[in-house]
Amino acid sequence: MITAQRAGKAAGKHVSRALLGLRSLLGARQDHHCPACGGDVVGFFRYGDCADWGCPACGASPRERLVNALLDAGVLALPQSGAILHMAPSEQSLVNRFGGAAGDYVPADIDPSRYAILGVQPVDLMALDQPSRFDLFYASHVMEHVPDDAAVLRNIYASLRPGGEAWLIVPLWDKRTEDGQPGMSAAERERRFGQWDHVRQYGPDFADRIAAAGFVVTPIGADAVPQNERARMGLGEILFRAVKPAAAR
Ligand SMILES: [Zn+2]
Repeated sequence: MITAQRAGKAAGKHVSRALLGLRSLLGARQDHHCPACGGDVVGFFRYGDCADWGCPACGASPRERLVNALLDAGVLALPQSGAILHMAPSEQSLVNRFGGAAGDYVPADIDPSRYAILGVQPVDLMALDQPSRFDLFYASHVMEHVPDDAAVLRNIYASLRPGGEAWLIVPLWDKRTEDGQPGMSAAERERRFGQWDHVRQYGPDFADRIAAAGFVVTPIGADAVPQNERARMGLGEILFRAVKPAAAR
């Protein structure tokens, strides 16, 4: 469903991207850096309320850039030759990075037909049943779509080996999490949660929900990246690092 709100945001994105291209042609200084594609750029294009959203070279969002910057800075590390379950694999730099590092890379989505890359597996997180298979689970902007997030977090926990990690990013506001009700209309969900297919809006207490599944949780933001680097990378959002204790079964 394309709503008027999303169509407006998308149109603004094209204008902003075109203006960046023009500035670049006119010789503006390339004083920004994209850790997703490694490019130096004149700035990032606007999307909705975010003025520094997309990389004009590769399209990476602030959260895609954040994950790359955290990996580059050594704040996060990929399991070497491990098994990685990558949900909603639309961030190309992470498809490349995860796929390159993993011994068993599984890009997956509830609807694989949405993706241009090959080999996307059908996985419904509500029914995920692959005990102790993965070393890393990654899902960015997925949890706000699942009907029962407590059940999904338990499934993710069970799918990880002891010591394994889940890296979760969700849209956040600064209030407590609000859950939708079953039967809520698409229009009502868009009004309350900002998008027709979001079934809740998370707040910082998302960390408590993750911990309730057994994880040790650390929220990580741009401030984990050295200040002189992060200023020019336009990083955004918070990555919740959830570790399954090594002593867990
Ligand atoms: Zn880029």
